[in-house]
Amino acid sequence: MLYFVYFCLYFLVFFFGCCVGSFLNVLIYRIPKRIPFWKGRSYCPACDAVIKPYDLIPLFSYFFLRGKCRNCNHKISNRYPLVESLTGLIALFIFREYDLSIEFILCFIFSALLITIALIDIDTLTISNELVISLLIPTAVSLVIHPDWLSRAIGFFAVSLPMLILTLIIPESFGGGDIKLIAICGLMLGYQNILLAGFIALLLGGAYGVILLIKSKDNRKKHFAFGPFLCVGILTAMLYGEWIINQYLQLFHLN
Ligand SMILES: [Zn+2]
Repeated sequence: MLYFVYFCLYFLVFFFGCCVGSFLNVLIYRIPKRIPFWKGRSYCPACDAVIKPYDLIPLFSYFFLRGKCRNCNHKISNRYPLVESLTGLIALFIFREYDLSIEFILCFIFSALLITIALIDIDTLTISNELVISLLIPTAVSLVIHPDWLSRAIGFFAVSLPMLILTLIIPESFGGGDIKLIAICGLMLGYQNILLAGFIALLLGGAYGVILLIKSKDNRKKHFAFGPFLCVGILTAMLYGEWIINQYLQLFHLN
């Protein structure tokens, strides 16, 4: 019986995450086009038909409609269910760490903003200033609950300052948005976790950059979105940073 209750609870958290993911899809589509996200109902980008409420159920509607618009049969991008299920999964991971608590809410809002930032960066190669500033809201509340000022103040500069210096030496190595993003996230995560986040991002972004160079020898793509790698690093460090750092220290018998 207990297992069943847990199953239902986990399913509810996952579904809640999917619903938020569905809203994030709207933000990801509308923010770069400067369409107010609160205005008007969701519509099919191909035929402009307003999507009926029963076709807006996250994940289920996509599979029920077999990925096509009910009105014009236009293929719906599989990104929509992907973002929905990703947000659902992240909600589950956060729930496992924090249960239903204020930390869960803060972490989830923070993660949802990071998902939106990452996807918009993939689409447009820009990190939305408004969204980075919005990260300050969960950060400020978290600061009131856990006022570890010193760690957070150091965190603000720990990765952003080296990135800024590198960008001054080698122009365009990082975008201004990347630097602002990691600075504000340092304020949320504290210096240890933000260093880990920066390390993970460099590792993944570096590997991706190398693959990109090998794959396109003649037509060298100079830029790629680094924001998504930062977001993956930040999310991983936020949820499992303490565990990863402990494992690492144990490896060298440092704790
Ligand atoms: Zn349509």
